[in-house]
Amino acid sequence: MPAIAANIARVRQHLAPHVTLIAVSKTYGAESIMAAYGAGQRDFGENRPQELLRKAAELPQDIRWHFIGHLQSNKVKMVAPCAHLIHSIDSAKLLHEVNRVCETLRLTARCLLQVHVAQEETKFGFLPDELLSYLRSGAANALRSVQLCGLMGMASNTDDMGQVRREFRLIKQLHGQAREITNRPDIFTHISMGMSGDYAVAIEEGATMVRIGSLIFGEREAARPEGR
Ligand SMILES: *Cc1c(COP(=O)(O)O)cnc(C)c1O
Repeated sequence: MPAIAANIARVRQHLAPHVTLIAVSKTYGAESIMAAYGAGQRDFGENRPQELLRKAAELPQDIRWHFIGHLQSNKVKMVAPCAHLIHSIDSAKLLHEVNRVCETLRLTARCLLQVHVAQEETKFGFLPDELLSYLRSGAANALRSVQLCGLMGMASNTDDMGQVRREFRLIKQLHGQAREITNRPDIFTHISMGMSGDYAVAIEEGATMVRIGSLIFGEREAARPEGR
């Protein structure tokens, strides 16, 4: 699969050195992932617990798996042990459940809080006010088995790049506020935003991680909704 290596090289040319490329491999098989791995790629994104587990078991141990899909409470114990970073903590309830499960597993989960800034009903996440008031409440300070590493967000699925840019800018601004409130500027460093269609804008607006699938692996079958 020479195209995958070439696609990765092309995407990397557009990334500043501080930006981590996450190759979103959901729906793609081991062969595609190994083609990317052969090109030096180590960060991969998955959105389904079962699929993540299967791939993590059979693929090289030095892959860092990023969980980017909606996470149901009853799947936390599957995902937490193999995820390098969980991007999609979309409610306080889920964050507290991840903490509880990780306490029993004696591990610490690195997490991003997902914010909902898009003009779409279907995207999960904290609303901006909800995020800030939750963090201000101090409830997260008591959680010993999760580490808050930053924010994740998605822009609206639109051709209006002005709107997309405004949404990314809002995520960046919220990140700054959240970082002050959480008072761990050494850990709360990441902003995961930008996909195949909008990652260049996301980087201009401050992304530290971009999640790119179809530009690397090709278009997915349309039948599978994205992680929901
Ligand atoms: C599928 C997915 C991506 C990658 O989307 P592409 O448009 O294929 O780059 C990024 N983030 C999330 C949360 C996804 O579900």
